[in-house]
Amino acid sequence: MDSNEKIYDVCIVGAGFSGLVLAIKLARAGLLVCLADLNRVVGRRILSTGNGRCNFTNRRMGDQFYYSQHDLSFIDDKHEEVIAFLRELGIIERDFDGYYYPITNQAKTVRDALENEINALGIDVYLDNRVTDIAKDDIFTVTTHRSVIKAKKVCVASGGLSAATLGSSKFGYKMATKFKMKVTKLAPALVGVVSKDICLKDLAGVRAVGKVSYRDASCEGEIQFNKDGVSGYPVMCISRYIGFDELDKKLSDLTIDFVYFMTDDELKEELKNRFSRNGEAAILASLNGLSNEKIIQTVVSYARIYGDTMVSKLDDEDIDNLVYFFKHFAISLEGTKGFDNSQVTAGGVDLDGIDLETMEAKTCSGMYFTGEVLDVDGICGGYNLTWAYLSASKAADAIIKEV
Ligand SMILES: Cc1cc2nc3c(=O)[nH]c(=O)nc-3n(C[C@H](O)[C@H](O)[C@H](O)COP(=O)(O)OP(=O)(O)OC[C@H]3O[C@@H](n4cnc5c(N)ncnc54)[C@H](O)[C@@H]3O)c2cc1C
Repeated sequence: MDSNEKIYDVCIVGAGFSGLVLAIKLARAGLLVCLADLNRVVGRRILSTGNGRCNFTNRRMGDQFYYSQHDLSFIDDKHEEVIAFLRELGIIERDFDGYYYPITNQAKTVRDALENEINALGIDVYLDNRVTDIAKDDIFTVTTHRSVIKAKKVCVASGGLSAATLGSSKFGYKMATKFKMKVTKLAPALVGVVSKDICLKDLAGVRAVGKVSYRDASCEGEIQFNKDGVSGYPVMCISRYIGFDELDKKLSDLTIDFVYFMTDDELKEELKNRFSRNGEAAILASLNGLSNEKIIQTVVSYARIYGDTMVSKLDDEDIDNLVYFFKHFAISLEGTKGFDNSQVTAGGVDLDGIDLETMEAKTCSGMYFTGEVLDVDGICGGYNLTWAYLSASKAADAIIKEV
């Protein structure tokens, strides 16, 4: 085992987006910093973000885009700061309706820019070093399976449990518990859901817009139906609730409103108008344009109407049934696709144990937590990388001020 003689000002566990941002900010201020990561490269997860394009922030910011057990009103709008930080590293942003990506459309550009800056600043990086423990005496001792690192301060930026193949571990939660902090329940979030619902036999492969609801949560967007479940932006955004319910074994149905742009009464009126325009038309032709063709076929069959039925033959009950299935289409659930397929972990180190101005643990001075390891998860759209930045930035400001 290597034992380094250096005593670092700060040792950061985890060279993900949060750890890298923190390391750069601290080293630029003249601090002696090191990073330790179990992966063989820095920023491995960044490569997979935004479908390989890295959606790093969003023009629409605020605590309403984040979830936690804790009040999140301390979350500031930092999207311009994220853009400016990456600009300095040579990343030019592309504004796609308020969602920011690198102009190259390649997540690798972002990862490489961070790595280049780490190298330029001469930051020591202990790669392929799985950190197994942190102990505190006068200073911190960070033990990896290959090295022992000494530092005056430590930051745990080791991420959550999602996407294990990209390098995730329970380490941050273990350390929080060791240093007498609480860890809230953990569930996969931003993940597709598993269903054996019979409707998927017909709908597999379909993409349709709709408003997806699960209990009190709902989100609009394009839904993707697969043979073993449902995914797409709106499903991902509310999946955290399904994840938590799965843990508690109290799953409910997912409901979809395929005509969310009309109320039940407006849709009823719309159907009556359509049916009165041409009574001879077959129902499927008459409904054309209201939703995806396969959705219309499924709704019609759920309403127990044959597709070639002439609309003049439909009565009020048929119309009520059509409205019901268009707007309250229920899909039974088996759960989520799990941590391995999730983009983010909901829950984490309880924010009650953290000073939210500095990100320092209340129970252990000199120990900081940033990024996904904390009990904060954002919806799709650049919010999680922005949180990783924001928390790192808070820790950097506090450490620089103190040291
Ligand atoms: C497929 C996918 C797509 C995503 N797309 C987006 C997107 O477009 N926009 C967005 O905002 N967010 C996106 N996210 C979420 C985002 O990537 C994460 O929330 C963010 O990267 C978290 O940053 P972090 O630094 O806190 O943690 P991580 O990036 O997970 O970094 C933690 C690091 O700690 C290391 N580590 C863990 N345990 C140990 C240990 N014991 N010893 C040493 N090292 C350890 C890990 O190897 C890892 O490198 C996506 C996630 C996934 C999986």
